[in-house]
Amino acid sequence: MSSPVRTRFAPSPTGHLHVGSARTALYNYLHARHTGGTFVLRVEDTDAARNTEASRDAIFSGLEWLGMDWDEGPKAGGDFGPYFQSERNEIYGRYLAQLESSGHVYEDDDGAVRFRMPDENVTVNDLICGTQSINLKEQGSTRWDAELKKDVPSNPDLVIRRADGSYIFHFVNVVDDIDMKITHVIRGEDHLSNTPKHVALFEALEAPLPTFAHIPLNLNADGSKMSKRDQGAAITDYIEQGFLSSAVCNYIALLGWSPKDDEEIFSPEELVERFELAGINRSNSRFDFKKCLWLNGEHLRRLDPETLMEKSKPFLIDQNIPLDDSRLPAALQLIRERAETLSDIPKGIAPIFSDSVEIEQDVLGKISGKENITGLLQGLHDAFAASENEWTADNIKPLIVASAESLDVKMGALMLPCRIASTGKAGGPDLLPLLELIGRERVLDRITVLMGKLVK
Ligand code: GLU
Repeated sequence: MSSPVRTRFAPSPTGHLHVGSARTALYNYLHARHTGGTFVLRVEDTDAARNTEASRDAIFSGLEWLGMDWDEGPKAGGDFGPYFQSERNEIYGRYLAQLESSGHVYEDDDGAVRFRMPDENVTVNDLICGTQSINLKEQGSTRWDAELKKDVPSNPDLVIRRADGSYIFHFVNVVDDIDMKITHVIRGEDHLSNTPKHVALFEALEAPLPTFAHIPLNLNADGSKMSKRDQGAAITDYIEQGFLSSAVCNYIALLGWSPKDDEEIFSPEELVERFELAGINRSNSRFDFKKCLWLNGEHLRRLDPETLMEKSKPFLIDQNIPLDDSRLPAALQLIRERAETLSDIPKGIAPIFSDSVEIEQDVLGKISGKENITGLLQGLHDAFAASENEWTADNIKPLIVASAESLDVKMGALMLPCRIASTGKAGGPDLLPLLELIGRERVLDRITVLMGKLVK
């Protein structure tokens, strides 16, 4: 029987949580949740010069925002800690002693401890990338390590502890995976070339190999390598721009994984249910910001009204939309049919709550030259003013229909001027419910203001 699944996300805290790392974290998280296993967060902070506290915090809060709660790690604790590599030196010393007593290491002339590369084929079976075998001694470990190439080009034996006593990444990475009983190493394809060395270390330490799954790269839409500054790269940008974490998870999951059918919209719970490592694609993925926006809109439309209100709040406050206005829930329902992000919401509903609207010149230009435009607006104004019915979308419609008939134009010819007058915009949510929410008096005032502008 195989042991219970334990996956880990092992970030080096040197920058933001990038979309590529978030995807690695998500696949580890989903695989653990899908199998009822354990998701571990381990901070690979051995490079003191490059690690920052700000980056560490950004990674934690990014994961938290995305809803990836880790079972073991910083804050969560667990039986295999500490979960910061900078605090695990004693453990590394123990594993090094094991390699010493089994004769796998020696100290070189410079005082560094080296691991004797086995002079035989090391085989990596990767769930996604397939199988490769390599004789590391023959190739020389230098082939895989640019840093070593500079210093000691001819020695294929891997330095695992520098002369100053610090350990190198490959050793601590493997020791931690052994010590934390990690069963699945799911990480970016950029680590695939390191994996034969890791396998050699696992074997020397007589530890069972985990299952390796290296995820193909994620590229920009144009096929270039994605960098920190590219659109969609930093998770904090999604938070600021009004994305829902469920949509971002959904989007990131689809960057390199596909379910068996063509479905695309998944809640976090559905992702957990559907995610299979076997569904990870073998080719590189391409980032598509438009698709991410579209998915976010779909997630917005699926929120229950209370959650929609809750998530919108910071964005509403930011734009001075009154939270206690009784029209707000209906306004949110209306706008979400068209919004893609939470930050679209206040923009779209502002005319409902503002005292007046501004009309940009180019919007005005859409109607200013139209035949008899002030006559049309006047006709509409009078029909709205004369009606004694309650001001509801259902009752407003026949007023527009009747005005169109008596003015001998199509209903559509009245809708655009009416929208521009009432909202200052040429597009937006359904006009009739919008007019209802703006209120009769304000609509009448705004039509009058627009007529004034048009005759000037
Ligand atoms: N600390 C490594 C990185 O951030 C992770 C290596 C691994 O997942 O094994 O790329």
